[in-house]
Amino acid sequence: MEKKHTVLIVEDEKSIVDILRFNLQKEGFDTLEAFDGQTGLDLVMEKAPDLVLLDLMLPVLNGFEVCRTIRDRGINTPVLIITAREAENDKIMGLELGADDYITKPFSVRELMARVKANVRRAERMPQPAQEAPSQILELGRIRIDRNASLATKDGANLELTQREFELLTYLASNQGKVFSRQELMERVWNYAGYVGDVRGVDVAVRRLREKVEDNPATPRYIITRRGVGYLFERPEDE
Ligand code: CA
Repeated sequence: MEKKHTVLIVEDEKSIVDILRFNLQKEGFDTLEAFDGQTGLDLVMEKAPDLVLLDLMLPVLNGFEVCRTIRDRGINTPVLIITAREAENDKIMGLELGADDYITKPFSVRELMARVKANVRRAERMPQPAQEAPSQILELGRIRIDRNASLATKDGANLELTQREFELLTYLASNQGKVFSRQELMERVWNYAGYVGDVRGVDVAVRRLREKVEDNPATPRYIITRRGVGYLFERPEDE
């Protein structure tokens, strides 16, 4: 029998919790609930859920602080933040703090479930460190990617990428010179099949990745923008 996945709902509006719980359970998920940020954080630590649905405006500890603390503790659990549709800055800030994606209120249940499933799947196919396979290493001059260890280094130093940044870099780097649209990256790295919505998450992830990978993020030499087309990975010619 397939293992049931657990989704932690951190949301202080009871009516929304009810909708989320009902739909998640209908789709075969177990659910946990927290009505404030501190309880949510405690449950992440104690119960290790497979995914966190995180409202931002919460009592005690807000969603931004919860998200940042989760990532500061090195926990890779997918986090989907729940924001108001008009709160543009909240979305970007949430992504900056390490959330995987956001859902806007009012959300469609179908879209929500698609995103929950995509993120749980993505987390599941993360490589297991124990499985050795030498072909899993990409040597790219100063940059080296070890898929098994989920480790990317530059000049021998750990780039300290988040899981998403690592996957994005690995995807681009294993297709050197090929340009991918943001849409394509959403589908292939974010695992959203047929996704037609907001692709800004790609831009935020690229920007964060450049801050870690590039010598000077303002003039990128590895992760290149093709204006109006998308992004590609290149190796600088002088390397
Ligand atoms: Ca709230």
